[in-house]
Amino acid sequence: EIVDFNKFFNKIIDRFEMSKPEHINFQRLMPDTDMFVEIDTDKMTQVIDNIISNAMKYSPNGGNVRFGVILKDDMLKVMVSDDGMGIPQDNLERIFDRFYRVDRARARAMGGTGLGLAIAKEMIEAHGGEIWAESEEGKGTTIFFTLPIQLEGEGEWE
Ligand code: ATP
Ligand code: MG
Repeated sequence: EIVDFNKFFNKIIDRFEMSKPEHINFQRLMPDTDMFVEIDTDKMTQVIDNIISNAMKYSPNGGNVRFGVILKDDMLKVMVSDDGMGIPQDNLERIFDRFYRVDRARARAMGGTGLGLAIAKEMIEAHGGEIWAESEEGKGTTIFFTLPIQLEGEGEWE
């Protein structure tokens, strides 16, 4: 399905904004340009849902969750950043592994299985993109992913 990514992304953020705790604040930084991507909307919704729930789940003291989209060459670069507990540098690569969770005891208390980001990585790569994280322990985490932009006219004959 070909969708305008900003419209699609904003709808998901709206749904979270309606039920978010009061101590978390949402900030959106998105250009007004239409950016079309060809995605499996159900799967991409699942990916983004997990990234946003992680940002909130791992921000027990609240803070801002920032959403950004920028155009870079022929790719979309999407960013979700939080002011939460962060991830130690040594564990940063492993958060995309199946069942991996940074702090087992703490993670157990917070619920979940440790599959969310492994699924996200699989889905994003299946769409021709990449996903990675930057984080500072005690300060916050940013998840980035890219998706190829659907160029004008492409897919017209399908
Ligand atoms: P699930 O998503 O399956 O319900 P989960 O949230 O624990 O469980 P993932 O979404 O795959 O699993 O995340 C893996 C681990 O990476 C988490 O357990 C957590 O330790 C760490 N993590 C992910 N996102 C963040 C974040 N925004 N801030 C801090 N730690 C994070
Ligand atoms: Mg998760």
